[in-house]
Amino acid sequence: MDGSTNSPQVRYIDLHTHTNHSDGALSPEELVKKASELGLAAIAISDHENTDGLEEAFDSGKKYGVEVVPAVEISSYPDPLTEHHILGYYIDYKDKNLQKILKKLQDAREKRAKKVIDNLNKLGYQINFGDVKAAASGTIVQPHIAWSVITDLENRAKLKKDFGTVPDTGEFIRKYLIPGAPAYEARETLKPKEAVELIHKVGGVAAFAHPCWTTVTKENNKLVFDDKKFEQLVKAGVDGVEVLAHRGSEEDTRECVEHFTALAEKYKLVVTGGSDYHGFGSAGKSLGFTDFYLKVPYRVLEELKLRHRNSYKI
Ligand SMILES: [Zn+2]
Ligand SMILES: [Zn+2]
Repeated sequence: MDGSTNSPQVRYIDLHTHTNHSDGALSPEELVKKASELGLAAIAISDHENTDGLEEAFDSGKKYGVEVVPAVEISSYPDPLTEHHILGYYIDYKDKNLQKILKKLQDAREKRAKKVIDNLNKLGYQINFGDVKAAASGTIVQPHIAWSVITDLENRAKLKKDFGTVPDTGEFIRKYLIPGAPAYEARETLKPKEAVELIHKVGGVAAFAHPCWTTVTKENNKLVFDDKKFEQLVKAGVDGVEVLAHRGSEEDTRECVEHFTALAEKYKLVVTGGSDYHGFGSAGKSLGFTDFYLKVPYRVLEELKLRHRNSYKI
């Protein structure tokens, strides 16, 4: 699949975005309005373990003429040191059992956040749970914690000592919060198979989110693909994979798109694509990839709808 066509007749979409109901900056209405201003034909709202923004997004979609796709992003752990995200599209988000499980997963995030903050305090950083909770209007996720540390002036001296300069949230997360890092805590969560089954039970299509980060490392300036990790998700039963996603530079992204296009063909997975937009405008993560060579054409959504209809005979 070539996502780089930039013809004026092609309509573009974004199937991976976050609102302030998880760790995004914009409200659902602001996000949909922005999509409309950018000329996007459709966006999926895929908050972390949370579907609370969907109703507002649907109303805004009607108002601004943007097709809104209901979605959710669920973190799953095949083992305590590996984290894979799974997107669920066209889920019946009103399902009571789904909401019960999502609530449990959100509570587990909060418990984990308390432990991580405790660890950071012990490592000498100023941060407290109340501030982080207040800043996160919905689910607390790692960027909230990182942001709270790096914006607190009391941490400046220690940050400079640890990083040489004040890091951005990504750098802070990689040094302190990822599996194996000093402040990391695992949390009670789902195995990939459980997450996929949960999505299937509520009529959704499950897609492996951003494998270009979680199954790819960079060694000696070359990308190294761990297809075994990818296959963990195939075995878990995903229906699709987020092939059209950014991976740093344009060159690396092209290599990833090519690699995952081939894997999608091999395992008969539907191709999805999205920017993972959070509203903070970091490079390659602009809504609809407006600052990037990659684009997601509307036909990707048509294929996703077809997979959805075929899976559930609708
Ligand atoms: Zn993710
Ligand atoms: Zn995401």
